[in-house]
Amino acid sequence: MKYYSTNKKITDVSLQDAVVKGLADDKGLFMPNNIKSLPQSFFDTIENLSFQEMSYTVADAFFGEDVEADALKKIVYETLNFDVPLVKVTDNIYSLELYHGPTLAFKDVGGRFMSRLLGYFIQKQNDNSKVKVLVATSGDTGSAVANGFLGVDGIHVFVLYPKGLVSPIQECQFTTLGQNITALEVDGTFDDCQALVKSAFMDEELNAKLKLTSANSINVARFLPQSFYYFYAYAQLKKLGIANEVVMCVPSGNFGNITAGLFAKRMGLPVKRFVAANNLNDIFLQYLQTGQYKPRPSVSTIANAMDVGDPSNFARVLDLYNNSHEAISAEISGVSYNDQQIAETLKQCYTETGYLLDPHGAVGYKALQDGLKESEIGVFMETAHPAKFLETVETIIGEKVEIPQKLQEFMKGTKQSLSLSKDFESLKKYLMEL
Ligand SMILES: *Cc1c(COP(=O)(O)O)cnc(C)c1O
Repeated sequence: MKYYSTNKKITDVSLQDAVVKGLADDKGLFMPNNIKSLPQSFFDTIENLSFQEMSYTVADAFFGEDVEADALKKIVYETLNFDVPLVKVTDNIYSLELYHGPTLAFKDVGGRFMSRLLGYFIQKQNDNSKVKVLVATSGDTGSAVANGFLGVDGIHVFVLYPKGLVSPIQECQFTTLGQNITALEVDGTFDDCQALVKSAFMDEELNAKLKLTSANSINVARFLPQSFYYFYAYAQLKKLGIANEVVMCVPSGNFGNITAGLFAKRMGLPVKRFVAANNLNDIFLQYLQTGQYKPRPSVSTIANAMDVGDPSNFARVLDLYNNSHEAISAEISGVSYNDQQIAETLKQCYTETGYLLDPHGAVGYKALQDGLKESEIGVFMETAHPAKFLETVETIIGEKVEIPQKLQEFMKGTKQSLSLSKDFESLKKYLMEL
């Protein structure tokens, strides 16, 4: 399969180059030349397949031309070695818990899949120089990517994070790993970390010496595997006999997750419609209402993984619908809630149903509560475990939240990180001397 850039200046790129580069040279995002439809027979019996089995069929449609069957199967099966349960919250609302992976974030699937696919391509290149993955994080991305790449041969990951601005639980998820993961504690903000990474990709001397790449959701290998979730949600509903009018609701930031859902629908998955659920950063809702896409600086909220003012995957949504505002509006609706609404929803859901949401899932749950029609069944993506946002959640519900064993294990490790100032020269010097 070849890939083209959403900016249309670059075409016919191999999967390998698309994965290794991340972003196209014309600054566009890579899109596959075609999205294969899966046969009706697949959907007729999907409820009898395991998560791994159905995901392999999906992965084969995307990557099968470029990766040998055995290798691809191994990548899929290793990536998805945890469950993604569908939990009933109310009569017509279900939570798809995406947070049972190693770092309790839905980004684990993309992080693990990408690390293995990149590892596969590096091995094929038969080139001994290590690839260096730079990742700037405000918390969740760093932990998912670092844990995904942990122990993968030929790749070293550098996580740049802002000193004192990452929650203690998140920090220990990428500073205690060792091996091929190095945490760089930057004396600055998340924006400074992101700027450092950008400068590194633009620095000729550095790129002449090192093979650098990035691992955020602009990378096809990071965002596409998230489509597995949508097939699995549908299969579980079908098993319950309630898959006729399915609404998928996705708490969204950079729109990688929901775009993967839109790809699933394009492959034939019978989803009636999608809801993009946002916090106060409502750029997408504004687009739906006005037809104008106007990015603006993000504001901070209690659902902070969605504090994005210029969602990078919006370019893919536009491309998927040929820039038609009408077509986009016909399949996707939007909502935006403020912190108070998010907190009230979290508390109300917990009190009335006993189900504990995290602040991101709460946005999705409320969107379904407010917008679901009588004949519809809604599924929201529960993107993180509530314990990851411990203080926020405990304050809202007025109770202690149990920290899962997996998170406690991270907290036992010893923090190891290198301090860096926020000026680029110190990062460059560090990388050049490796
Ligand atoms: C990353 C993230 C999101 C947003 O996902 P996108 O793919 O960027 O839209 C939502 N919730 C949580 C907990 C996240 O970590």
